[in-house]
Parts: sequence; structure tokens; C-alpha cells
Amino acid sequence: MVSRVIPVDPFDLVVFGGTGDLARRKILPALFRRFQAGQMGESSRVIGAARSDMDAEAYRGFVRAAIEEFDPQAASDSAALEEFLGRLSYVALDAKGTAGWDKLAGEVSAGRIRAFYFSVGPGLFGDLAQRLHDYGMADHDSRIVVEKPFGRDLASARALNRGLAQHFQEHQIYRIDHYLGKETVQNLMAVRFGNMLFEPLWNSQYVDHIQITVAESVGVGGRGDYYDRAGAMRDMMQNHLMQLLCLIAMEPPAKFDPDAVRDEKLKVIRALDPVAPDNVVRGQYQAEGDKPDYCTQVENPDSRTESFVALKAHISNWRWAGTPFYLRTGKRLKDRASEIAVVFKEAPHSIFGAGAGRHRNILTIKLQPNEGIELGVTIKEPGPGGMRLIDVPLDMTFAEALGPDSADFPDAYERLIMDVIRGNQTLFMRGDEVEAAWAWTDPIIEGWEERGEAPQPYASGSAGPDDSLMLMHRDGRRWREIKP
Ligand code: NAD
Repeated sequence: MVSRVIPVDPFDLVVFGGTGDLARRKILPALFRRFQAGQMGESSRVIGAARSDMDAEAYRGFVRAAIEEFDPQAASDSAALEEFLGRLSYVALDAKGTAGWDKLAGEVSAGRIRAFYFSVGPGLFGDLAQRLHDYGMADHDSRIVVEKPFGRDLASARALNRGLAQHFQEHQIYRIDHYLGKETVQNLMAVRFGNMLFEPLWNSQYVDHIQITVAESVGVGGRGDYYDRAGAMRDMMQNHLMQLLCLIAMEPPAKFDPDAVRDEKLKVIRALDPVAPDNVVRGQYQAEGDKPDYCTQVENPDSRTESFVALKAHISNWRWAGTPFYLRTGKRLKDRASEIAVVFKEAPHSIFGAGAGRHRNILTIKLQPNEGIELGVTIKEPGPGGMRLIDVPLDMTFAEALGPDSADFPDAYERLIMDVIRGNQTLFMRGDEVEAAWAWTDPIIEGWEERGEAPQPYASGSAGPDDSLMLMHRDGRRWREIKP
């Protein structure tokens, strides 16, 4: 099977923050790979825009170095890399001033798709939208892509939405959450809604509980300053984990179109019960060997910011009443592993007697480091000796059936950037979704602040604080092992 490349219309893509960390690591390598795949037509161009004073030639050198560092395999195609670099230009500008903006307006072409990627802090979103308007670049062919964090609470998210809405309509605003761009996340929707097999069981009558884990083995690294002001709840739970929760829990949309899908996701968020304090656990990692503890790493000895959070959520609707959703995310955990596990109930009666043990089907959607979907089924252990049951995974990625190229799909940033060019918002968050998500997480964070609660320490390389294990144990359940 050869992956199909769907052509897109010619475009100009401006990357504000084009010299930043995210541009270097993700956006520019992703654009190069789409170029290699033949998805950047001959006249499409990329324009870096940032504060640093450099010319186009220097910027090309910067981009070459970034691609060589972050995707050496792709960069080894040096002829393609040179051709791609030829499509790049650069404008030095200040989002808050007027310098550089006339030049940028002269660089982007009217009458074609113009995408503006705001790869800068949210404090600049409003300024950029305003300048794009002032310099005649905010017309109906324009669209903007905004990075997380989209605010730090409901009030700031509303203010950001209002600022963007002054010059762009909702259908022009792409709030990116790269988890939604993962192949497996979309496959989850295909498996759920393309088969008769799962949907009838997809409710509290058959599903015991759902676990969502996004575990990182690294600490806060060089992003300590930002992270210490955010914490795991704002940085991961409010966006990535809640988005995954929505896709798992939503009703089948009438069709796979942006507003139909996002309407259903929004209904899930609005049906979430408030979370009681004893259903949330926060943690902070401790030192391990030569790796410093959290407070040392963020250079804030008294920090009460959580690097781990686990919670139990309930969705009050007909489908899910009685099925808990357990969500956890954290840094410096045992492994880097993200997955969603749909744990079905046991069969109501075992005809094989107590000796056969207790078995459950588990549908696991693995998101990283490897993507895939697996269904755990119970079968007879082969061979003589009576009826002994074992659980085996049924691999639903079908790499063999689909051929070796089936694993060779675009990464999340590639797919999402191309969706922006195509004008498809299905995998992007709508403004009301983001606000509803903050409305749910705000009281949890405010509760911690009011109670002056400190996070619990947990050992680096562990599965998080003991209380997060208790969150499950007291319900007679346990977390799945964190492993890739
Ligand atoms: P960075 O600090 O590395 O880069 C910031 C960029 O913005 C630079 O190119 C800088 O020149 C430009 N900039 C800053 N002030 C400017 C101004 N007044 N006018 C014009 N340009 C200006 O930041 P980053 O890590 O690349 O992050 C960018 C955005 O993406 C942030 O909102 C961040 O939270 C988000 N994000 C980053 C990551 C990551 O891994 N780095 C991941 C997810 C989201």
C-alpha cells in the first residue's frame, strides 16, 4: 500500500516565532516532509517571521540546521532540502510594533490561501491578529493557527477568543492540539464508528471504566519557567487529556464534519460532573541520582506546582452514568507511554468455574511512543489439560495486512498543517470547547489554591504518588502498567 498524497492549493504560510523552539523541532521539519511528499505545489512558500534580525539567507541556514538536527533522515535528501530552502524567506518584525509589517504584507500574495501560524506565547496572539488586520492580511483567504496554551483559565481564554474574534471568524481560527493529529486518534473514530461491533457495547452497561494515561519520563527540562506557572493540570489535562476523553466518550456525530464532531465533544465536556477534592491527586517529582528534583529544576524552592495529576471523572449522561474515567499525566514517570484503555466488564457468569480466573476485554489505543490499537480477547490456552483461559492481544493496526508502507504516515504536525491549508477544522478545538474545558478545570485549581494544598512528592521513575494508586484501589481497580 502506498500512502496517498492529496494535492492542496498553493499557499503562503507565515510562521510567527519562526526562530523559536517549536518551529525548529516540529513545524519546519513537518513542512519539509510535506514538501518531500509532493504536497507543496510549485508556488507555495513559507515565510519565517520573528524578532531576530537576519536575512532570508541566514534564515535558510537556520532552517537547514534545524531539519538536520531534528529529522536527519529526511535531511539526507540534500537535493530536496535545497529546493525546499529555496521556498523560504524571512521577515524580522515585532508583534507589538510596526517594524517589518509592511515588508511582510509585500511578501504574502493576495488571492491565495494565506496561513499564519502563531508559534509565539499567547500574550502576542491579540497583537498579531490586530497587525494582520491593520496591514490588510486578515481577509477571507486568511486563516490563523494558534498554539497552546490557550489561556490559563476561563477568563484569559475568553479574552483571547475575544481578541482573535475581532479580526477573524471562528472558521478561520485553528486551535492546535497535536494529540488530535495522531493517526491512531483518528483510527479510534474509524474503529468506533465504522464497525457494528463496538458501538453497542460502548456504554456503562458494558464498560467498567476507562483509563487515559499520558506519561513522560523526562522532567520539565528547559521549559521550567513556563511550566512552573502552568503545571500538569493546565499544561496537559485541560487540553490533551480532555480532548482524548471527548473523542472516547462522545455520541456518534451525524457526519464526520468539523462542527458535527465538535458539537458532540462539547456536549461531553458540559456533561462532566465537578470533581470532588478526594478524586484528584497532585504530585511533584523528587530527585533521582544526578537528576534534580522539581523545585531545583524550575529554580523555585517553594514551588507548589504539580508535575503530576490524576483524577476520576464522571460524565452525567445516559451513556456513561456509572462508568468512571480515570485520567493521569505526569513527568519523570516510569516510561514515556500514552494510551487510552477501555476496560470492559467481566462476562456475567463463567461457565468454566473459578479456576479459569477472571477475564476482561480491554481495548487499548496506544498513542506514543508507538501508535496502535489492540483488543485483548480471552481464548483457550492451546494444548491438552482442560479448559484454561488466557488473554491475548488482537493487533488492530494491521501493518501486515496493509503492507509495509502503512506505518509510514505523516506525523501530527504534518497532518494538521495540511488540514489548515485544506480548510478542515475537524481536528482543531473550537473556541467554546476550550472555554468549557477551562470552566471544568478552573474550580479544581482554585480549590487547591484556596486550601493551600501542596503536591505529594513521588519518586522519579515511579508511577506517581501513592495516592494516585489509591484513587483506583479504593474502587477495586488498578492502573495499567506504564510501559511503551
Ligand atoms: P521560543 O521562546 O523558543 O520562541 C519564541 C519565538 O517568538 C521566537 O521566534 C521569537 O523571536 C518570537 N517572538 C517573541 N516575541 C516576539 C515579538 N514581540 N515579535 C515577534 N516575534 C516574537 O518559544 P517556543 O518554545 O517556540 O513556543 C512558541 C509557542 O508554542 C508558545 O506559546 C509555547 O507555549 C507553544 N508551545 C511550545 C512547545 C515546545 O515544545 N516548544 C510545545 C507546545 C506549545
